[in-house]
Amino acid sequence: MGLIRRPIRAMQLKLRFSLLMVVAISGVSFAQNSKVTVPDIPGFYTLKADFHMHTVFSDGHVWPTFRVNEAIRDDLDVISLTEHIDYEGFPDIIDQDYNKSYEIATKAAENKELIIIKGVEISPRVAPYHHNALFLEDANILPTEYMKSGKAEFVMKDSVTHDQLMGPFLAVKKQNAFVSYNHPSWGWWDTKDTVLFTSFHQELLDADILKGVEVVNSGNYNVIAHRMALEYDLTMLCNTDEHYDNHPRYKDTHRPMTLVFAKEKTAEGVEEALFAKRTALYFGDYVVARQPEAEALFKASVDVFTERKMRKSEPLLVVNFINNSDIPFEAKMKAEYDIEGFPLGQVRIAAHDTTQVILKAVWEYPEETKIIVSVENILVTPEAGLQTEFVISAKENK
Ligand SMILES: [Zn+2]
Ligand SMILES: [Zn+2]
Repeated sequence: MGLIRRPIRAMQLKLRFSLLMVVAISGVSFAQNSKVTVPDIPGFYTLKADFHMHTVFSDGHVWPTFRVNEAIRDDLDVISLTEHIDYEGFPDIIDQDYNKSYEIATKAAENKELIIIKGVEISPRVAPYHHNALFLEDANILPTEYMKSGKAEFVMKDSVTHDQLMGPFLAVKKQNAFVSYNHPSWGWWDTKDTVLFTSFHQELLDADILKGVEVVNSGNYNVIAHRMALEYDLTMLCNTDEHYDNHPRYKDTHRPMTLVFAKEKTAEGVEEALFAKRTALYFGDYVVARQPEAEALFKASVDVFTERKMRKSEPLLVVNFINNSDIPFEAKMKAEYDIEGFPLGQVRIAAHDTTQVILKAVWEYPEETKIIVSVENILVTPEAGLQTEFVISAKENK
């Protein structure tokens, strides 16, 4: 975003259950330098990433080394400094070298466990609007013919041609970059584009250039972008788009991030995962992901073990949900038996805690039984939370 910031939009997500309200109010607070604990999933490392931020090398207000330290403070594994290719707040610093921001950050991250991805933001104010290009080779050869003169202020030519707008996209495609549509609907750029996936976006998709969409920008969930990701089969991203120190904005929560499920902890591993669409978006107490990643992350976060218990002469099954992650899950459970003490089966599986669910009365213990769980704060579509189940083994206690 940048240049002119509009006030943070209210979350577009409807809080459908009062339990979620409680979560929203209580939040999860993290001290600075605190760890963000989300588990790996089977076959993949879970890398914490932010693919969109700015420094003085475009319209940000911090030096690239600040972004490196900030990311380490926030327990990230991967960042990209995505300077606008067409806006220079400090032309003297940039001195027409658009790779410099990346180079300074890379040097600062040497011997640190932080992966720096070379990226840029292509930012015309007409369709197709702002896009990030990640895994670039050279940011110095991207044409910005749609600009009027210079980049110290953002002024585009009076009549911009399609070819001028297409120029940087074709250039980044030659470098095999991963391109994502940033913050669709920010400011609703052009009222003639009432549909945010314009013919230009269709063209980028058809040309195999457009690969992703930012569903969460600066902590704001964008329901239109979520629908767009599902309709056009795009990788989903959650980025801060930070221009300042992000701490004041996220002091009461963790930094919003894209969880990347990578085969290896390298830039190549991140790249492969992004092209393969293996991401989950983690912001506040919400996760947005496709079904396979949503289910894997939830199951990796929560261990379940079951005990048979007698309470006076009442036979019970006590199911322990052990949540090893930072994410409190708002579950709705159904079982073949009655669930004690949780009206409508609404159970909060608190973070780093064990939540006991008692099934009763189990006059005859089965070999196994199922608990069907819907997780309301893991969105697999804008309308639906994750649906999954646990098979509970109810064997005799040793
Ligand atoms: Zn932008
Ligand atoms: Zn900006």
